[in-house]
Amino acid sequence: MSDTDAVEFTFVSGHLALDLAATLTWRSSYPIELLAGPRDLSAWIEQAGLAEVAGRIDDADVERMRKLREAVYRTASAGPLERQPRAGDLRFISRTAAGKQLTPVLEELGRAVWRGNVDQVLATVAHQACVLLGGSDYRRIRACTDTQCTRLFVDHSRSGSRRWCDKQSCGGRANAAAYRRRRAQPSPRSPHAPTP
Ligand SMILES: [Zn+2]
Repeated sequence: MSDTDAVEFTFVSGHLALDLAATLTWRSSYPIELLAGPRDLSAWIEQAGLAEVAGRIDDADVERMRKLREAVYRTASAGPLERQPRAGDLRFISRTAAGKQLTPVLEELGRAVWRGNVDQVLATVAHQACVLLGGSDYRRIRACTDTQCTRLFVDHSRSGSRRWCDKQSCGGRANAAAYRRRRAQPSPRSPHAPTP
């Protein structure tokens, strides 16, 4: 597989940690693992705009990132899915966040490059997860209304009523389905038309 065949990841959640959680898709029906190997993790890091990673990424790194991802998912979805967060997950995320973070290099006004190894990527993602899950914004975490889509997102809307992880994909599908249902139903204008 060439680099051009790399998975295209989705970044619609409004938060890096929840974008990571979305790398296992359709969790409740047909889960698809998008972080299947080192090349995928490398692509995710690059597409997230996270860092120029030094050193090789191996299967053990992928395993650690998946473990962090699942801890983040279980904790972040605790509110929307009305579950209790696990103490072990909170400890694991905190422990990972305690590692050395990525280092920014300010190249010019408006442009910084973040450098480090994959350990530092893990620590940085975990750190950001701590900021989200440990602050008041955790109350804004929602699960997408689409019953198949299991993505989480941060609802930054003023009304706090955002329903879809992504208006184009999930929201668009729901609108198309509603439109088809309306077309399939008889006109409600004359429900009791007199029979001749
Ligand atoms: Zn969705």
